[in-house]
Amino acid sequence: MYADPNLAAPRPTFVTHLECSATGEHYPADELHGLSRAGKPLLVRYDLDGVRTQWSRDSLVDRPASLWRYRELLPVRQAENIVSLGETTTPLIGLPRLAKTVGATEILVKDEGRLPTGSFKARGLCMAVSMAKELGVTRMAMPTNGNAGAALAAYCSRAGMESYVFCPADTPDVNVREIALQGAKTWRVNGLINDCGRIVGEGKEQMAWFDTSTLKEPYRIEGKKTMGLELAEQLGWDVPDVIFYPTGGGTGLIGMWKAFAELEAIGWLGQKRPRMVAVQATGCAPIVKAFEQGEEHAPLWENAQTVASGIRVPIAVGDFLILRAVRESGGFAIAVDDESIINAQQEAARSDGLLMGPEGAATLAAYRKSLAEGRIAKTDQVLLFNCGTALKYPMPAVDAALDRTKPIDYTALARA
Ligand SMILES: *Cc1c(COP(=O)(O)O)cnc(C)c1O
Repeated sequence: MYADPNLAAPRPTFVTHLECSATGEHYPADELHGLSRAGKPLLVRYDLDGVRTQWSRDSLVDRPASLWRYRELLPVRQAENIVSLGETTTPLIGLPRLAKTVGATEILVKDEGRLPTGSFKARGLCMAVSMAKELGVTRMAMPTNGNAGAALAAYCSRAGMESYVFCPADTPDVNVREIALQGAKTWRVNGLINDCGRIVGEGKEQMAWFDTSTLKEPYRIEGKKTMGLELAEQLGWDVPDVIFYPTGGGTGLIGMWKAFAELEAIGWLGQKRPRMVAVQATGCAPIVKAFEQGEEHAPLWENAQTVASGIRVPIAVGDFLILRAVRESGGFAIAVDDESIINAQQEAARSDGLLMGPEGAATLAAYRKSLAEGRIAKTDQVLLFNCGTALKYPMPAVDAALDRTKPIDYTALARA
């Protein structure tokens, strides 16, 4: 029988405790936790000296290309609790023709659309569900704009757990259908993701479900952290100059920032950090507003609207962690409008054959805007994130048709 050594081999674990991201208060590992007593996200802490002395970069050579190759920096204790659908390493894909047009040295895209369920939500949810299994949870619930719900549904079904998923009414139909097909009890709610979140929060006692909302449980961020581990390894244990990240709840941005710190602590990375750029849509830009006003928190954004549904998050429990990482990195937060997102999507597809989802396209639009505004240089090595497959979103219609019963004017085809 085939057994992926990343999943099957016993490997040492190094989790020491959990820590409140606001107060620093410690919480025991190996127990079920939601938010801290202060109502803030909990972060997983490791014995990094132990990792440093007992784990070597060389060991990675023999490990298959999936996020489980980094198990020494992940929370799951027992291999048998790993719930996996093949979380492959995602490629860094250059946009050389576009870079040439722009006059830029290098534009790289980390293409997360290749992960199970078609988005990087798989990274977070494979970890959250594996930890839930390890800690004895059998029923999970979450609010979602689509991709997280699909990943939760898939991994819960895989683990033999129940899942309850609540989506804003106007979530793309394909997402809602996917979630239901993957086995979750699925509802559309006449509100936004924070309204769905309230339903989960208020029902959790009565329904005995575990609240898997973004950053309200500690382990999704550990899964998302692997983006940082992975890209550093792919760049030869180095980081790019600038990372553009489409920011909703911000798990990925916070997670990567944590990953870089952990890699430095174990001696695999130097002190260089990328400038972290949080990208939002002008129709929902709470983090950008807070960044520009010098605030530590980002209040609820009213009437949130954008085609990039994955980043339509009007309020984020980890707002202060996103803003802190962005500021510490010397980066910034920037908003782009839907028109520039759609144009960027078309541009990447036509120039370099890479179809980006609207959130990924937002990072390209933000890159162009940042260049034009002189906030970054053409010589910067930049990394954009395409967080999900574009194939889950409505695409522009095609009306061109041929009548096979009539003579075909072939020369006219070239003019189309
Ligand atoms: C969830 C999601 C995002 C935002 O990710 P966060 O880490 O929660 O900020 C961006 N793009 C897509 C496609 C998503 O599904």
